[in-house]
Amino acid sequence: MSARVDPANLLGLNYRDVPRRKAAGPILDAHCHIHMCGQTATFFEAADAYGVTAHLTMTPLSDVPALKRLRGDRVGFIAIPNWKEMSGSEAFRTRWMKDLDAFREAGARVCKFWMAPPIRAEQGWTLEHAFLRPVVDHARSLGFAFMIHVADPSAWWGRGARYENTTVFGTKLEQYPPLEWFLKYVSPTTVIGAHLGGFVEDPEFLDRLLERHANLVLDSSATKWIVREVARRPEKVRAFLLRRVDRVLFGSDLVVRDAYAGFDHYASRYWAHQAMWETDYRGESPIEDPDGEHPPRLAGLDLPPEVLSAMYIGNARRLGLAPGKG
Ligand SMILES: [Zn+2]
Repeated sequence: MSARVDPANLLGLNYRDVPRRKAAGPILDAHCHIHMCGQTATFFEAADAYGVTAHLTMTPLSDVPALKRLRGDRVGFIAIPNWKEMSGSEAFRTRWMKDLDAFREAGARVCKFWMAPPIRAEQGWTLEHAFLRPVVDHARSLGFAFMIHVADPSAWWGRGARYENTTVFGTKLEQYPPLEWFLKYVSPTTVIGAHLGGFVEDPEFLDRLLERHANLVLDSSATKWIVREVARRPEKVRAFLLRRVDRVLFGSDLVVRDAYAGFDHYASRYWAHQAMWETDYRGESPIEDPDGEHPPRLAGLDLPPEVLSAMYIGNARRLGLAPGKG
């Protein structure tokens, strides 16, 4: 009958008609993955339209020079290893440490450790594993802050879901003792817990984690996951954010690749975050969500301007993580 509905635009919005932003000042997306590809210019067109003018990006080292030429000091880099080559070999680890040097020379101030349950299953690694210690120590000696992806949506541990076998993947709660060990080990170095520390499902848990570890901050990235779970408990998340104003950085987790084509894909994530943090919208989300309700829901938290400014740029500046002169 009709053409297939765009999964990034279920509501048929005009994403070029950008709603007015509630807080003045620049917006830093502190968690994204920009590759140099045929979509890079389209991505920045969408980001600029939404006032997101600075980015911290997990860009492959080989794309760093070209991206710097394109955006100058509006981009900062989050050092990552070459995941495709990942193994427990000495050669992989040596290369990872050399890449940290190169990223640091390119101005990177953060390095990322992806410590989701599959790493435990495939490599037997958690954050306190001896194989990783020289990498962690090297990163600290270079002055890096850390970004840690520690857990995934709680739904992924459900019956028949991908982490159902907890002897292989660990339970969701078992992901956290290694993180807490790490937070103490690197203290007072800043650690960014990606995707609201992996536990937007339980803001009280996050509150206790932040209470115990002064060097922990969280990023708000992963649009579908965060939109879904905020919509299930908007008041709790709002209260959490008001209480922890100085501990959350804005991030999208947008991945810029040829596989994700078009202005609407990139704009939809920034639209959804803006609606969620800045407005009192309650209704359908425009982004299809395979893990959630049908239709997907979005709840706006209508955060005060000073909270938005802290999330968008203030906290990153205070922590010395904003790119360029900040
Ligand atoms: Zn990410």
